[in-house]
Amino acid sequence: MFSSRLYINSPVLVQSFFISLRGWVRKLVRENRKSRIVHAQISENETDAIALSDYSTRMLKKTLHNAVNNVEAYSKARSSECLQLENFSYIDKDAVRDYPERYESNVKPKIVVHGSTSGTTGAPLEVPQSMNSVIREQAFVSRMLDWSGFEKGDRRAWIRGDLVVPVAQSNLPYWRYSWFENMMLMSSFHMKQDVLSQYIDALVRFRTDLIQAYPSSIVTLAKYLESCGEYYPGKLKSIITSSEYLSPESRKLVEDRFRCKVFDWYGQFERVAAIANCEHGRYHVLTDYSHVELLNSGNGRYEIVGTNFNNELYPLVRYKTGDHVLLSDETTCPCGRVYPLVKGIEGRVVDYVYASSGQQVFALDQCVKGVAGILGSQYVQDKLGQIEVRIVAGTDFNEAALSKLTDNVKKRLGEDMSVSVVEVKMLERTQNGKVRQAICNIKE
Ligand SMILES: [Zn+2]
Repeated sequence: MFSSRLYINSPVLVQSFFISLRGWVRKLVRENRKSRIVHAQISENETDAIALSDYSTRMLKKTLHNAVNNVEAYSKARSSECLQLENFSYIDKDAVRDYPERYESNVKPKIVVHGSTSGTTGAPLEVPQSMNSVIREQAFVSRMLDWSGFEKGDRRAWIRGDLVVPVAQSNLPYWRYSWFENMMLMSSFHMKQDVLSQYIDALVRFRTDLIQAYPSSIVTLAKYLESCGEYYPGKLKSIITSSEYLSPESRKLVEDRFRCKVFDWYGQFERVAAIANCEHGRYHVLTDYSHVELLNSGNGRYEIVGTNFNNELYPLVRYKTGDHVLLSDETTCPCGRVYPLVKGIEGRVVDYVYASSGQQVFALDQCVKGVAGILGSQYVQDKLGQIEVRIVAGTDFNEAALSKLTDNVKKRLGEDMSVSVVEVKMLERTQNGKVRQAICNIKE
């Protein structure tokens, strides 16, 4: 819709009308009786270990049964004795992309919803969904909203990858409204330094209760507030982040400057695993959403491998996500929910660069720690031994900060690394409006 000529050429008010209409249709389709039943059921199981385990076991059984009986790729896993997850081999994005039709069920639902990844890290992957999958997903989204304190009628701001404002537009406002959803949709693609104060003003004026944002977008605003020595002047219930890596430092900064809790949600397009923050900031693996296995990748990192429960049209079994978690020492959470805990989620495998030693290095946001005046940073590597650090600089960025940044980068990537720091107005975004922390163009 957003890329159509009709939308792009419409006046602002008409664009809000289109968005509202889309929101209304989505609400109608997704938030129906079925999704409310699932929502109630999964909420009931949250603090009951036996009920939750029964539910998850039943869902896994159902998924595996469907997989072996209706999906070509899994027909070999059928065993005469009983249906065991261990009989299935691990699969990954490449396996599915090579033979996508082999993973689709022979039983076709009436309505099929098509979607594909943006393909920023390779060729796009298409995963068709049944309507049942869309509705069940909605139930989990609604529960996440419950966890974050959302109540009916609350006003939400949405700062994610939707192209609500045509990219070529260079005049305010960079936001539109979805009236039936009580929502303001702000563009992530127009967050240049000189308009950030207007974003904050618009959030306050809208009397926003809750913000749903990409980490990179909300961090941009938090860093802006920090650089002015200010705090968000409105009163928020919470902020929900998802779709990008949120570092502990970024979380702290956002919670501090916006004076509310951040609820981070980890999921992926393939929908094989979901990990969500509760009000105590712990990450819970949602065992009613999918079956998750954690594979040891060394160095304390565990890869998330998931089997989806919700999409019977495309049941991905033992799917290796390429994303990692750090294990937690805790077994219980003060919130009382019985889902297993992990300590944190690590950046995507693609978000790394090479140190001069040839070793892959992740979590580069550590490099800007303690460096004044940096509103955003991105690391681009085209050649071994060299790195370009793109920064969005605030007014207090100076020579000393530049030298500290260079030192930090060298400390992590090697003293002989050639570091060039380039100031940009805003960071490069993918087609979906996400900011990749590291862009490595070196082929292995
Ligand atoms: Zn908890």
